Amino acid sequence: MENLLVAENIYKKFGGFTALNNVSISIPKGSIFGLLGPNGAGKTTLLRIINQITMPDEGQVFLDGKPLHPSDIAHIGYLPEERGLYKSMKVGEQALYLARLKGLSKAEAKARLEYWFKKLHIEGWWNKKIQELSKGMAQKVQFIITVLHKPKLLIFDEPFSGFDPVNAGLIKDEILQLKEEGATILFSTHRMESVEELCDYMALIHKSNKLLDGKVSEIKREYKSNTYEVGLEAENETELLKELNERFVLGKAKFQSINDDLKLTIQLQENETQNDLLTYLIGKARINHFVEVIPSVNDIFIKTVTQNA
Ligand code: ADP
Ligand code: MG
Repeated sequence: MENLLVAENIYKKFGGFTALNNVSISIPKGSIFGLLGPNGAGKTTLLRIINQITMPDEGQVFLDGKPLHPSDIAHIGYLPEERGLYKSMKVGEQALYLARLKGLSKAEAKARLEYWFKKLHIEGWWNKKIQELSKGMAQKVQFIITVLHKPKLLIFDEPFSGFDPVNAGLIKDEILQLKEEGATILFSTHRMESVEELCDYMALIHKSNKLLDGKVSEIKREYKSNTYEVGLEAENETELLKELNERFVLGKAKFQSINDDLKLTIQLQENETQNDLLTYLIGKARINHFVEVIPSVNDIFIKTVTQNA
C-alpha cells in the first residue's frame, strides 16, 4: 500500500545522548500506526521531528513521497505531549482562536466546534476558563482542536494518558471514526493494550532503537507459538493430564468457564496442527473450550526486548 508518511534513517542526539538511532517508519495511507515503547524510548522525539519542531541530525521525512516542507503543517494535526492551553482564556474563545490559526473562517470554525463539543459531550464548557478544567477535560478540548481542520495526517502523542477509562474509550472510538473518514493516524503510546484495539501497523522503539515493525496481524502470526488453550472434561483427569504431559508441552490457562474444566495450554510441535490436537483429544475428553493462543502486544514486547537485551 502507498505510504503517506515515511521517516527514513533518523538519527538524533541531545549532547552525548542518542535519542534516536537510525529509526525508520512507513505509514500506509488510511491506516492507524502505533509507535510503541516505554518511557524515554524516543517516541516524542520522533513525533517532534515529523512535526518539524526538532531537526534530525541525519535522515529525512517524506509526506506523500516529497521531502517534508514547512507548509505541510497545514495537512497535519498534532496533539503534543505537553498540552499547553492559555489558562486564563475561556474554552470557546481559545478553541475559536486556535481554529482560526488553522485557516478556518470564523463561521466554519464555530460550526465545527459546536459539532465536536456536542459529540464529546462538552457543550456546557464553552464559557468555562481553561484553568477550571481537569487534565482530562483540557485534553478533550485539545483533541478537538487537533482534528478540527480535517488534516490528512493526525499525530497524537500519548492520546490516552490523561483520560479515565470512559473518556479513553470515547477518544478511541473517535480515532477509529477519523480513520473511516479517510485520515491516516500515527500515535505514540506506552500502553500496549491500546495498540491491540486500534492499530493496523506498529513499531516498537526501545532505548532509541527500533526493534520491530510491521502489520500487527503479521507480527502476531510471526510470534505465535502453535499453542492452544483448552477446557476439557474427562472421567479420569489425573490420567489424562499424565498422558498429555508425556506428549505435549503444557501450561496454565485462565479463562471463564461454567464447567468444572481441566484448563490448560497445549503447545504443539511445529509440524502439528490444531486438527491433530483435536483428533487426539476427541476420544479422550469432552472438549468444552478450544482456541488458539494469540500473543498479546505485551507478550511480543517482552519477548523482543528480552531477545535484544
Ligand atoms: P518517549 O516519548 O519515548 O518517552 P522522548 O522522545 O521524550 O521519549 O525522550 C527520549 C530520550 O531523549 C529521553 O531520555 C529524554 O530525556 C531525552 N530527551 C528528549 N528531549 C530532549 C531534549 N530536548 N534535551 C535533552 N534530552 C532530551
Ligand atoms: Mg513521550
